[in-house]
Amino acid sequence: MSHENHTFYLWINGQKVAGSEGRTFWVTNPATEEPVYEVHEATLNDVERAVQAAKTAFLDGRWSKLPLAERQARLNRFADLLEAHQDEIVEAESRQSGKPVKLVRYSDFPFSVDNLRYFAGQLRALEGQAQAEYNGAHSSWIRREPVGVVAGIAPWNYPIMMAIWKLAPALAAGNTMILKPASITPVTALMLGPIAQEAGIPDGVLNIIAGPGRIIGQALVEHPDVAMISLTGDTATGRQIMAAGAHRVKRLHLELGGKAPAIVLDDANLEAAIRGIAVGSLVNSGQDCTAATRAYVHRSRYQDFLDGIAQVYREVRLGDPLNLSTDLGPVVSQAQWQKIDSYVTNAATMGGRIVLGGGRPEHLPRGHYYQPTLITDVEQHWPIVQEEVFGPVLVVLPFDTDAEALAKANDVEYGLASSVWTENLRRGLWFSRELQFGEVWLNDHLPLTSEMPHGGVKQSGFGHDLSRYSLDEYTTVKHVMADMDNETVKGWHFTILGDVPE
Ligand code: NAD
Repeated sequence: MSHENHTFYLWINGQKVAGSEGRTFWVTNPATEEPVYEVHEATLNDVERAVQAAKTAFLDGRWSKLPLAERQARLNRFADLLEAHQDEIVEAESRQSGKPVKLVRYSDFPFSVDNLRYFAGQLRALEGQAQAEYNGAHSSWIRREPVGVVAGIAPWNYPIMMAIWKLAPALAAGNTMILKPASITPVTALMLGPIAQEAGIPDGVLNIIAGPGRIIGQALVEHPDVAMISLTGDTATGRQIMAAGAHRVKRLHLELGGKAPAIVLDDANLEAAIRGIAVGSLVNSGQDCTAATRAYVHRSRYQDFLDGIAQVYREVRLGDPLNLSTDLGPVVSQAQWQKIDSYVTNAATMGGRIVLGGGRPEHLPRGHYYQPTLITDVEQHWPIVQEEVFGPVLVVLPFDTDAEALAKANDVEYGLASSVWTENLRRGLWFSRELQFGEVWLNDHLPLTSEMPHGGVKQSGFGHDLSRYSLDEYTTVKHVMADMDNETVKGWHFTILGDVPE
């Protein structure tokens, strides 16, 4: 790789630019703990430049007023070009985040490309209510319009996928945008600028800036010319953004944290549950907002489940993320490693039993590796059961009745994802109605599809990614009403002018 390929610039108004104060920062490979990419850091001036570029591009309609077929064609070309750049994007994604290339190449990346193609198709199907003369004298219709300048603020756990989840519906709906990836994983998002330009996305429509969230993210949230903030991140960040956006009544889309339960009923296919929950809890080293974090297992199956999942956990291959046979890479940073370890240590101190794992694997002295960790003998109110750990850690709790499992599953402040494992459809459907989560899987945990919405309730936020629901959120609904009778004195004018007619 040449030096040039190690240095990443901001992307503003169709150009690679250095940060206005000339500062750069380094992105570290979590597997080697070595700096691998140098990135130009955006300042408040750069926020201003990016917002003005996006505002100008929005106002002159260079994107929003393109014929829809043309907008679709360019987004599809963007998807084609992304595929052409697959190898370099997959490698950079793995180096900056520690994700196994296996996961990026066969899951994150193709799903991102599919998402772009899905929204390219959907944009031609936007529609409003049918036109009609609702009160006799006027004809009404609905215009669905883009919101304007959108700021997409993304997390570090799925850098390329979250970038695409933000930009695909926003651009499909005709908005212009500023994308701000997480500071520790900005590289693959920054790679998107020139590719978008080559695909025919006009300059200024997509701007990408990297830098600290509490400075440049906050500035985007507060900026009067930014019409909408779409955040995927921590619930605490969501709260800060709501507060900062409040004085401008900013439109928000918040995809926040999760603490997914996986409920294994007495009649479950145990092999499937063990395998599915192992995968659901370990995906991306557990750094996944939908990851299975709490297994509630019927007491009659509890020991078998525990033995089985311990066996699967033992077989997981931790190692170099660039090796295609690696199952699990490191977690993203030392800070994240410490956070995970303090939850595990705290649970042990409180009397929890570490059945397996905890801490660093002996054979990997370097890199932020954390062992798959199983914990039992914990209580519902403990932090390890209530809070987002965001690591390869699963707590397993027994239950006796369906009602108890449901109550415990719902008893967290989050409401993003959940799963139920049963061979009885009626029981599964009952849980799907009663679970207070935006997603319920029956006999699986994790799969998502571009056509179906992904979003939370409670402190997991509001708004949806993926699907037609997402496209709707990046548009406004405008009601247009036209007088059809052309009468100067209208029947209702007396309510303001003159007497009630006889
Ligand atoms: P984070 O909240 O720390 O950061 C997310 C983004 O917000 C980053 O780009 C960051 O720079 C920016 N930011 C931070 N403070 C800000 C502020 N005051 N104003 C504006 N922007 C600010 O989250 P993270 O640690 O990068 O990601 C992990 C979190 O994301 C977890 O809680 C996880 O559950 C959540 N997540 C949710 C979903 C979902 O779909 N609900 C998906 C993936 C991740």
